[in-house]
Amino acid sequence: MTKKERYDLTLKNLDGLFPEAQTELQYNNTFQLLVAVILSAQCTDKRVNQITPALFEKYPTCEDMAKASAEEIFPYIRSVSYPNSKSKYLVNCAKRLVEVYNSQVPSDVKELQTLQGVGRKTANVIAAVVFHQAKMPVDTHVHRVSRRIGLTDNAKTVLQTEEQLMKNLKKNDIALLHHQLILLGRYICKARKPECNNCKLTVCCKYFISLQNKLQKQNKTIEQTFK
Ligand code: SF4
Repeated sequence: MTKKERYDLTLKNLDGLFPEAQTELQYNNTFQLLVAVILSAQCTDKRVNQITPALFEKYPTCEDMAKASAEEIFPYIRSVSYPNSKSKYLVNCAKRLVEVYNSQVPSDVKELQTLQGVGRKTANVIAAVVFHQAKMPVDTHVHRVSRRIGLTDNAKTVLQTEEQLMKNLKKNDIALLHHQLILLGRYICKARKPECNNCKLTVCCKYFISLQNKLQKQNKTIEQTFK
């Protein structure tokens, strides 16, 4: 199978699995999405969605959050990972938005990365989701499933994964595929044990095809493996 065939089949079958994939983070404005993405680092979207309603009620805008102290933010986010650091990030990020960006979240990825708590992935999420730029934010799910399917070759870092995906994708396919790969990794192609028996990508997935070949040599069936 050529690389192009693999990409085409992946896009087609992911459309069947997740036709309307989008972020599962809940937010009401761009600033709130930025906050939610910062909080979601090393944490689940589910957990973030549990705590953001109270946080956003108390601090709905960056002006409100810029006036708070990290100690005041902490109780609202204590159940996410790294709450001490993230409390400081949120306050400093909000302050910079107010002081430098006239309380507007910038659309430029480099400028976004000057905000505390915002790395390349978070900046790409904002650029893609809010400003509809052709960016591929690569998190642990996107990195893992891209490698398993064979969309990437020997990509050791998230940056290498991003570069290879961007090189092989058409601009219009990037946004939806990003969300589809996250959902695939979150619900089916899980880190510990992929649920290939529930996956529509078996026709084009490098990992699955090689597993199938291995089992055939051992006279075992896929059904026995996933029962
Ligand atoms: S077939 Fe298996 S390994 Fe491949 S993407 Fe689906 S769940 Fe992941």
